[in-house]
Amino acid sequence: MDMIQTFHVKTSGKSDLIDITHFIREAIKKSGVGEGLCYIFIPHTTAAVTINENADPSVAEDISTELNKIVPVQNRYRHLEGNSPAHIKSSLVGCCQTVLVQSGEPLLGTWQGVFLCEFDGPRTRNVHVKVIRG
Ligand code: ZN
Repeated sequence: MDMIQTFHVKTSGKSDLIDITHFIREAIKKSGVGEGLCYIFIPHTTAAVTINENADPSVAEDISTELNKIVPVQNRYRHLEGNSPAHIKSSLVGCCQTVLVQSGEPLLGTWQGVFLCEFDGPRTRNVHVKVIRG
């Protein structure tokens, strides 16, 4: 299957990192691609995607906590919607990631997982995935 696959992820907190590695594995399996690239895109301006440790959940919590310190909740932002910190964190972390695919699996390190970063939840977020043979 060469199509773009889209997953929907319900987030439950204002600011959360949600492990979506199982979705990525599923997308690669569905694609039938043995070796290539898996491109992950988040079509939102207040969410992002990152790759980091998923063995110890404290790592995701620490990332979330420290991002909140870097981008304070109140800071004379001009954006009237009131969610500027979420927009800024989205740009800092980024809306896309690429993972190598080998033997039909994402070539992640032992401790790595793919996380959807929610910065303005709770919401339902879309995750677009394209697996390319090569
Ligand atoms: Zn906004």
